[in-house]
Amino acid sequence: MTVWLVGAGPGDPDLLTVKALRILKRAHIVAYDELVSPEILALAPKSAEFIPVGRRANGCRRHESRIHPLVIQRALEGKDVVRLKGGDPLVFGRGGEEAEELAAARIPFEIVPGITAALAACASAGVPLTHRDCAASVTLATAQRAVDAVDQPGTLVFYMGLGTLEATLAGLDRAPSTPAMVVSRATLPDERVVTGTIADLAAKVREANIEPPALVVVGEVVAHRVISAVRREERKIA
Ligand code: SAH
Repeated sequence: MTVWLVGAGPGDPDLLTVKALRILKRAHIVAYDELVSPEILALAPKSAEFIPVGRRANGCRRHESRIHPLVIQRALEGKDVVRLKGGDPLVFGRGGEEAEELAAARIPFEIVPGITAALAACASAGVPLTHRDCAASVTLATAQRAVDAVDQPGTLVFYMGLGTLEATLAGLDRAPSTPAMVVSRATLPDERVVTGTIADLAAKVREANIEPPALVVVGEVVAHRVISAVRREERKIA
């Protein structure tokens, strides 16, 4: 009876940790968020019980608890449950709240970290999150509470920020010429990157019809973007 709170990474199955893959391959019960790609779910045994527990999963919204009641129920039946979450479970994934509830219910759990979207998006786009010349810190923020981040120096990364991009950028305490970018569906085959400045990024993103999930990165580091000489498809490992 253990609940494994496992980070599934940003989308590309190759970016799962070895530990996440090992746990997934022998899973009997997989409770997953909508952010987890079908390709990753396909790595679990076909015979496993799959439980969608994301915010949009049926009826889940009204539960008072953060963790899905079926996860608790299965664990109390003595079963191991893999609770698979996009990116890292503890970065805007509410994994901490789920862990608190498991601890309160005296259900053993283990947290397995995953590659969070900010790291994956910047690696994919070729943008360093820190840079000796211009960024000595990184702030991971939610666009829903962008105001918490506006005064922070260094690189700013906003999660869940596509819908409110215009307002988020307008609220920043930085020059309109500051470089900024949006990375959507980072590490997935249809990943897209749009670069610009605080002043023009929102219009460019609208024009490009960018789809969620997407991250917003603001700071001088975006101007240090390096694009590999070798096309992505050719870089794939066998
Ligand atoms: N725990 C996750 C974040 C969950 S919040 C993590 O560590 O990455 C959901 C937000 O994450 C999305 O709104 C989006 O801003 C970001 N996100 C997740 N996967 C992404 C991806 N593949 N590309 C771009 N942004 C992504």
